Parts: sequence; C-alpha cells; structure tokens
Amino acid sequence: MPKACNHNREPSLNEDTKPLGRSSDRRRRVLVAGGAGFLGSHLCDRLITLGNEVICVDSLLTGSVKNIDHLFDSGNFHFIQHDVIDPIKIEVDEIYNLACAASPPRYQNDPVHTTKTCVIGAINLLNLAVSCNAKIFQASTSEVYGDPQVHPQPESYWGNVNSFGPRACYDEGKRCAETLFFDYHARHGVDTRIARIFNTYGPRMSPQDGRVVSNFIVQALHGDDITIYGDGLQTRSFCYIDDLIDGVLRLMNVSEAPAGPVNLGNPVEFNLRELAELVLDLTGSPSRFVQRPLPVDDPRQRRPDIALAERLLDWRPGVSLQEGLQRTVAHFERELSQRRTAPLDMAEAVS
Ligand code: UDP
Repeated sequence: MPKACNHNREPSLNEDTKPLGRSSDRRRRVLVAGGAGFLGSHLCDRLITLGNEVICVDSLLTGSVKNIDHLFDSGNFHFIQHDVIDPIKIEVDEIYNLACAASPPRYQNDPVHTTKTCVIGAINLLNLAVSCNAKIFQASTSEVYGDPQVHPQPESYWGNVNSFGPRACYDEGKRCAETLFFDYHARHGVDTRIARIFNTYGPRMSPQDGRVVSNFIVQALHGDDITIYGDGLQTRSFCYIDDLIDGVLRLMNVSEAPAGPVNLGNPVEFNLRELAELVLDLTGSPSRFVQRPLPVDDPRQRRPDIALAERLLDWRPGVSLQEGLQRTVAHFERELSQRRTAPLDMAEAVS
C-alpha cells in the first residue's frame, strides 16, 4: 500500500514543503479522487494503460466498484473507500480531483454535503498536494457560468450564478474550489490545472443518475415516455467521454501550466428536442415526448468556447454526437439486459 505523507496539519502560508522521498526510477503514483465515478473510472483506465500506479479514492456515494472492477488485475491499481471531506495522507506524485456528484438530482439530494465535498474536499487535496509536492488537477464545471448571458462561454466570462437556489451548492462550491486552487498556486506554488468540464456522456453513466442523456436513452430502450423538462428548447453541448479524458490528460501534461481554467467540452450545440429525436432514431423506440416542469435555475443555453484548449493543448473533440450516442446506447442495452432499471426523474430524485 502507498506510504503515508507528511500531512498532519494544514501547512502555514510560508512553510517550505519538501517532496517525500519519491524516486525517479519508479512509475508515477497518481491519486484519482472520485475514481469510481463515470469520468473518474475512464480516467483510471487511461492512467493504468499509460503505465501509472493509480490510487482510486471514492466515497461510493455515486461511484460504483463495478466501474473499476476490471482494473484490479493490472496489479497497479488500489482502491480506498474514503470521503474527501476528511483529510487523506498518501504519498503521490499527481492528484486528480473529480470527487463530487455531478448530476443535478444527485448533488441536490444532500446540498450541504455537496458544498463540503467541493470546498473541504478541495482544501484536503490541495493540502495533500502541498505535502507531497504533487501536481493537482481540478474538475471544475461549466456550471461556474450559471445561466450564461454570454454565448458561447469563454473562460474570461465571469458567469451568471444564483447563490441562493437549488443549484448553488454545486455551482458556488465549484467556484469556491477554483478560488482555492488559485490561492494555493499563488501562496504555496502548487502546480494546478483546472478544466471547466461541459456536459459529458458515454458508457458507465449511471442509468439512475437523472442526467438527460442517460434518462432519454433508458426511457427510449424501455419504451417509456421521454421526459422533456420545460419546452425542450434549452441547449447543451455534449462531449463524448473519450474526447474529454484526452483533453484532461493533455491539460495535466502540458509543460507550461495555463494561467487559469480551461474549457473542455464539445462546441457543437443541440437543443433537448434534437437530442431526444436522435435517441429515438438510434434506438428505433416508439416512446413519445412528455413535458415536465423546468427545474429551477436550469441554464437556458450552454456551449463552450474552446479556442484556449485548441491553442494550448492542441485539443478538439473528434466524436460526433451521433457516433457517441450509438456507443452509449450499446452500453445501456448491455446494462439493461443484465438488470431491469427505471430512469430517475428530477422531481422524484430531489423529493
Ligand atoms: N433534462 C430533460 N429531461 C430529463 C433530464 C434533464 O429535459 O429527463 C434537461 C434539464 O432540464 C437540462 C438538460 O436536460 O435543461 C441537461 O440536464 P442534465 O441534468 O443532464 O445536466 P445539466 O446540464 O443541467 O447540469
């Protein structure tokens, strides 16, 4: 097991921290917080394939051991069930912080815990980065732009976020985490990388997490009604998981750390009716649309400006929505043939 890091207390702002005896001849030891979740498990896959030792830390609140089961055979993969709101002491070279429920029904289920995960979780992992002299990645979010009044959203846009609503626990938590990353870099010299991740989809999304792509596919495969919230004309831009992970790794590995957050997402924008039509086409489902109330503070439009990622990381998504949905539908067909499950409605999930 990994050995403990010198991390019994929060470092003072002037403290001179030292790396803890890492040798250059061994493989990199990488901690992935939230590693059993949808994004995190795909990241663990890629890090193992690249020859790293991976320590997956996850509370299993929304993640699942099923997502990482296949990695134990590699011999380089460890799993620790742990909630990042409690400090963690492990010697690592790199840290990826993806620990937080990301689906609106899930993060609204226990909003105070969501804020703690974003804020205290970030502090604990940043303190670990200081103790270990480790580089650290933060999974930030397009939610920092709120219901944006600038379209598409460049990193320079400060956003339009309601601090006093059901999405605030996540939006403000993630904004505060960015602030913490800024200050730990400025005050402790931590090498920080921040991606603002836009809607991402693909295999291993939980069929029950209530997000639009998983809901529509599961509803279509069951022949159930497709739940359109509001008029369905609100837009999102959907990035396939493999493209996203490629961007995350490029951001973590680019030699010169970008000065601030970098948007990662697919810049092709769809409204939700278009998404639903595409899912019906791909599944051949007879499902019909039903309208449900629009959740409070649901952003009207969202599309990343990815000029910065293109320039700094030479990155651009390559998988079209049609192609990515085909792969995702195939995943859910396999899942659902193994177990009968029902999509989670926003109203049910938060009640
Ligand atoms: N949505 C919907 N039907 C669903 C689930 C979500 O119409 O069954 C809408 C939701 O109101 C939002 C968009 O789809 O406008 C994306 O929602 P999601 O929960 O996937 O993520 P968000 O981008 O809002 O964080």
